[in-house]
Amino acid sequence: MQQIPFNKPLIEQDEIDAVTGVLRGGRLEGNAPVSKRVEKTLEKIVGAKFVLLMTSCTHALETAVRVLDLEPGDEVILPSFSFPSAANAVLLAGMKPVFAEVQPDTLNLDPEDMEKRITGRTRAVIPVHYAGVACDMGRIMEISRRSGLKVIEDAAQCMGAYCGQDALGTIGEIGAISFHATKNVVAGEGGAFITNNEELFHKADIFREKGTNRSRFLAGEIDKYSWVSPGSSYVLSDILAALLEVQLGKLDRLTSQRGRVDRIYRQGLLDLESEGLLQIGAVPQYCRPNYHIFFIQVDPARRDSVLRSLKEAGIQATTHFYPLHLSEMGRRMGWREGDFPVTETAFRSLIRLPIYPGLPDTEAMRIVETLQRILH
Ligand SMILES: *Cc1c(COP(=O)(O)O)cnc(C)c1O
Repeated sequence: MQQIPFNKPLIEQDEIDAVTGVLRGGRLEGNAPVSKRVEKTLEKIVGAKFVLLMTSCTHALETAVRVLDLEPGDEVILPSFSFPSAANAVLLAGMKPVFAEVQPDTLNLDPEDMEKRITGRTRAVIPVHYAGVACDMGRIMEISRRSGLKVIEDAAQCMGAYCGQDALGTIGEIGAISFHATKNVVAGEGGAFITNNEELFHKADIFREKGTNRSRFLAGEIDKYSWVSPGSSYVLSDILAALLEVQLGKLDRLTSQRGRVDRIYRQGLLDLESEGLLQIGAVPQYCRPNYHIFFIQVDPARRDSVLRSLKEAGIQATTHFYPLHLSEMGRRMGWREGDFPVTETAFRSLIRLPIYPGLPDTEAMRIVETLQRILH
């Protein structure tokens, strides 16, 4: 029986040609012609004024908390149900991550719970758009404005996803997208820092160039560059930018091929959902998703055995985020079991099914049939 992997990036001859083209051309560094072009392309695609390519989404998030003029001891609200990237960014800048609960159907930040956690020291919030499905940004932006909070969107999973007319990552002050090999559009490793604010853009540009004004030098605005502020080295190589450029050209195709798999799962699993045997991830009206993840939630008592049975059938399904508040690091910060019941249940009941552009319909249907057999 053929194994169905969980994920597989679509790499074709044009990606290979683009990368070898840069290798032959000799400009291997970043902040160079290909990266510049890709930044312009991304600005057009997402409809934002400024995009900076970075070495990862994690680095874009680190840059975001650095350029917002937050102070040590300031509190930043973010969901426990996430990757450690945003929490690390907050910690590394000497600030305090404050976890919040997610909504049970989308596993996105719960605006009501977020509001409850605002104190006199809260300065920012980092909503994470899970699975390429938008958080309730209307509510989150409204609460944030009222409380004077900056919004940094962790849109790591969201290339090609929208909330209403707005691309995810363009709604808050700053957004961060990932081009990691497991995301919808890949550079192997890589990320984008997005903003409409010119001052934040310039600060981030300096931060990613070792705290120097090298970008102004490259633009011919000054005749030598120097150290002007604290910074790091977060510039993406043109080799990876070339791979990303080809992938971005295929964005619609990559999204619609994932959408095809998503539709097969949604239709095929509807009966199991009405029988109460599983719950399919919700997509609210205001979202245009990019089908990054397809997840179901099953009875936590059965979850591991369902995963085992899928594996025996040659299907690589998997769980997701270990709640940050229950991690070794989270417990050291004083969080405890029971602090976020929805997050904890989500972690124990979640199964992600394989989804990638080259997954044939017949295989997606075999996965549906296998789940029907296992759950009945
Ligand atoms: C993938 C991911 C990240 C990390 O992205 P990198 O580009 O690998 O740093 C951060 N947050 C979320 C929600 C992710 O899914």
